[in-house]
Amino acid sequence: MVIKPKIRGFICTNAHPVGCAASVKEQIDYVKQQGDLGQGPKNVLILGCSTGYGLASRIVSGFGYGAATLGVCFEKEGSEGKTGTAGYYNTAAYHAEAKAAGLYAKTLNGDAFSDEMKDKVIAEIKADLGKIDLVIYSLASPRRTDPRSGETYSSTLKPIGEPITTKNLNTSKRIIDEVTVEAANEDEIANTVKVMGGEDWEWWIDALKDADVLSEGFKTTAYTYIGKELTWPIYGHATIGKAKEDLDRAVLAIRQSTEGLKGEAYVSSLNAVVTQASSAIPIMPLYISGLFKVMKGDGTYEGTIAQIFNLFTENLFGETPRFDAGGHLFQNYKELQDDVQSRVKAIWDAVDSDTIDELTDYKGYHQEFLKLFGFDLAGVDYEADVDPVVSW
Ligand code: NAD
Repeated sequence: MVIKPKIRGFICTNAHPVGCAASVKEQIDYVKQQGDLGQGPKNVLILGCSTGYGLASRIVSGFGYGAATLGVCFEKEGSEGKTGTAGYYNTAAYHAEAKAAGLYAKTLNGDAFSDEMKDKVIAEIKADLGKIDLVIYSLASPRRTDPRSGETYSSTLKPIGEPITTKNLNTSKRIIDEVTVEAANEDEIANTVKVMGGEDWEWWIDALKDADVLSEGFKTTAYTYIGKELTWPIYGHATIGKAKEDLDRAVLAIRQSTEGLKGEAYVSSLNAVVTQASSAIPIMPLYISGLFKVMKGDGTYEGTIAQIFNLFTENLFGETPRFDAGGHLFQNYKELQDDVQSRVKAIWDAVDSDTIDELTDYKGYHQEFLKLFGFDLAGVDYEADVDPVVSW
């Protein structure tokens, strides 16, 4: 079938297998061009391995350090007449590239929050890898079923305390308008912490430790976004910010519970980048379009693969890791410089529907968005008939 993007609001409901493969290849090539990275991980478990920061973590582990990667994701396969999800195609592409390069890669597709998936992963590690020396926790999900209670929780993206009304880049209509988001109630806050907080990360580490599949000196990190004033209303001081604060609680618990293994556990603070998860957050399209304009103009913007490459080489496996005031590995320090933030704020205040392209890099934002689903990649023939059924 010929596949063209079907965009509904902040999501694209289909994906292009050849384009996704080209996007994965682009990221692999970026990593390969960086040369020898020295000492790094050997056996890596990536929870949320199929898109965004998790996929980039897999690519840096595999193609940067030559590591074996075991991934977990939640994706849909394509069928006759219906495309699979981008994460499915990305994973198939990773497997094909890894095979060609002689790298071990295995992926389990299913619910990472479940006990069943934890058991399956442990069985795979025991059968194929022995022990894991790096665990990347990069899940982003709107809901989670707690396997111990059976209850399903949904996360919300809402401010805490007062409702907010804020300027917004309406990506469906391509205009600047306003959005009002009601304040979350206590249940919504607690449920978001349950889904996007640190409990499941802790449970993963506990399960892996109890099964004796973590090597001595292993490392683990979960990812957070610590922004400034512009994003506080919907992120830092909002339900998702509360969930991210819970990672700070979990990281201490993990350090304590793995003391005997001399493990290292971190929360890493990363750039705002265009991913399926971030495009669902009101404010982010306008913020990131302004940020692109400023940082790409300065030549300092790092996209998803560059952020993770630098996180690994400078911080996780670097000689002198950089920490922010909250004790997180600090990778988005360039984004958070006052000068950058104040120039994004000036754009934010000035932009209207007529000046979107002049003042922001919404074109760049939209292109990145399309690329997430395998569209708008150079060298891909989008008029060609392609088979939506791809396997790994
Ligand atoms: P993403 O949507 O691109 O990736 C989410 C991944 O989680 C996918 O691999 C998906 O398959 C997997 N997943 C979701 N539910 C699952 C389930 N139940 N079982 C198994 N796998 C499941 O998201 P992302 O933006 O890369 O986010 C990853 C992490 O990085 C999140 O913690 C996010 O908060 C954080 N982060 C994102 C940004 C950003 O700007 N995108 C910035 C800083 C930090």
